[in-house]
Amino acid sequence: MTKDLQLRLLPEEAANDDTLRAVVARETGDAPRALRILKRSIDARQRTVYVNVTLRAFFDEEPTEPLFPEVELRDVSGRPAAIVVGAGPGGLFAALRLIELGMRPIVVERGREVNERKRDIADIVRRGTIDPESNYCFGEGGAGAFSDGKLYTRSKKRGSVERILIRFCQHGANPAILYDAHPHIGTDKLPGVIERMRRHIIGCGGEVHFGTCMDGLLIHDDEVTGITTRTGQEFRGPVILATGHSARDVYRMLTDHGVTLEAKGIAVGVRLEHPQALIDRIRYHRREGRGPHLPAAEYTFVSQAGGRGVYSFCMCPGGFVIPASTAPDECVVNGMSPANRGSRWANAGWVVELRPEDLASFHLPDTGGEPVPEVLAMMDFQERLERLCRINAGQGVKAPAQRMADFVARRNSSALPSSSFSPGLLASPLHFWMPDFITSRLREGFRSADRVSRGFLTNEAVMIGVETRTSSPVRILRDRETLRHVTLRGLYPCGEGAGYAGGIVSAAIDGERCAEQLAAAYGG
Ligand code: FAD
Repeated sequence: MTKDLQLRLLPEEAANDDTLRAVVARETGDAPRALRILKRSIDARQRTVYVNVTLRAFFDEEPTEPLFPEVELRDVSGRPAAIVVGAGPGGLFAALRLIELGMRPIVVERGREVNERKRDIADIVRRGTIDPESNYCFGEGGAGAFSDGKLYTRSKKRGSVERILIRFCQHGANPAILYDAHPHIGTDKLPGVIERMRRHIIGCGGEVHFGTCMDGLLIHDDEVTGITTRTGQEFRGPVILATGHSARDVYRMLTDHGVTLEAKGIAVGVRLEHPQALIDRIRYHRREGRGPHLPAAEYTFVSQAGGRGVYSFCMCPGGFVIPASTAPDECVVNGMSPANRGSRWANAGWVVELRPEDLASFHLPDTGGEPVPEVLAMMDFQERLERLCRINAGQGVKAPAQRMADFVARRNSSALPSSSFSPGLLASPLHFWMPDFITSRLREGFRSADRVSRGFLTNEAVMIGVETRTSSPVRILRDRETLRHVTLRGLYPCGEGAGYAGGIVSAAIDGERCAEQLAAAYGG
């Protein structure tokens, strides 16, 4: 016999399998042989925090159905090839789906494999160097590899989201992602998952080429028939282009080829870091903090200021702020967390929506760089701000920072609080050198968050500059149905870099969709 129960529990009652079994025995009068959690979420809206758990209790026998289906390996060695450029979530999930559909993916990735990438990332702090081909944005696993691995998305495509989560589990992710309302994997677990995906692709007869940067498209009669690489190779086949939002050379190459792009808005701001204990106190309404049974608290804030959205972005509870530049003359920050979200800090991007037409309303000093066509004006702005940020960081690996309340009061910070940002912080008046278009709205956004959550606006928090890589500054136009580029057959712009995704899950969903459309046209 099985019974499904919807429970509203205190954190200590939902702490583990034993405490849950005790609750089920209390509720049903019978001790279960096994439990399977179907849904779990935290409700911290009231003074008392509850954990809502939906579970299935098994009383007579253990469950026979597996949590998720086994991964199916299919030999695609002799099958038609498709080129996948980029091994981020978009590219990897496209490659895995191509295999399911009987095509042979050839994945071309400019960066190194995920474990070698760890060394390049460590070198950013150890040697103060950024490898432009292997860093927090480039390399196997893409921008999502060293992240919080948050897997929630605003996508309404429930079935597709579930498929992606199952795919992660098939490659070693914790099955809790299937039932948690806010699933995440963690930066310490993601590389193993990504490595298993690569082994899967190669094991089925696909190819993965690292250190191989695409530098051109082969185009004949309005059809993309392959790519060229900086290593002098040519790969032939239709192309899924999943190069992410940081591959500025790709956008430049596309405009040189006359490929149709359109300018798109982005969001720009800073990383804000609080002590996690302070966020726990605010979110869980408890002076004593979260206690042993609740996870590091999260937050999301959204408001409007001066006609533009101001919002928190990509929050990393119990995480670290990291240097996410892709070139040595930039300063860009982002965030990541381990699976246990156990650090002393809570960080999140705080960004202001910026539309292409807004660029005319302020001016950034010329910090060098090549002139770009009009369609890349937003990308040019990102680059300029990142270079300006590095100048304000003293041209080293440190990042410029200011205490939050000082920023709101337009006051310099004489000393900074301790931070998770391991390259180090340099006190800097962000209110002074960042465009007023952004700083005035951030100020409003912080005040608005503090009205909802008293104590949020505090000098215990520090703002670190700059957060610019939030989404793609252009969209590579494609047909809504076939997902093919609007003028070029054989080209499938995919994922975040093409302007059709924001985050790991939505990039993965888009990768699968592009693979399906490509296979329908070229699968034979
Ligand atoms: P990317 O992941 O950017 O992958 C693009 C790949 O293409 C890269 O591997 C790159 O090296 C490769 N490439 C680029 N140019 C070329 C070329 N010319 N030739 C060959 N290869 C090329 N999202 C979440 O949902 N949850 C999170 O917790 C989260 N945390 C993040 C933390 C950090 C530090 C960062 C930077 C991003 C985070 N994101 C997070 C965003 C998320 O990572 C991206 O939305 C997602 O990775 C986009 O997937 P993608 O495949 O479209 O592109």
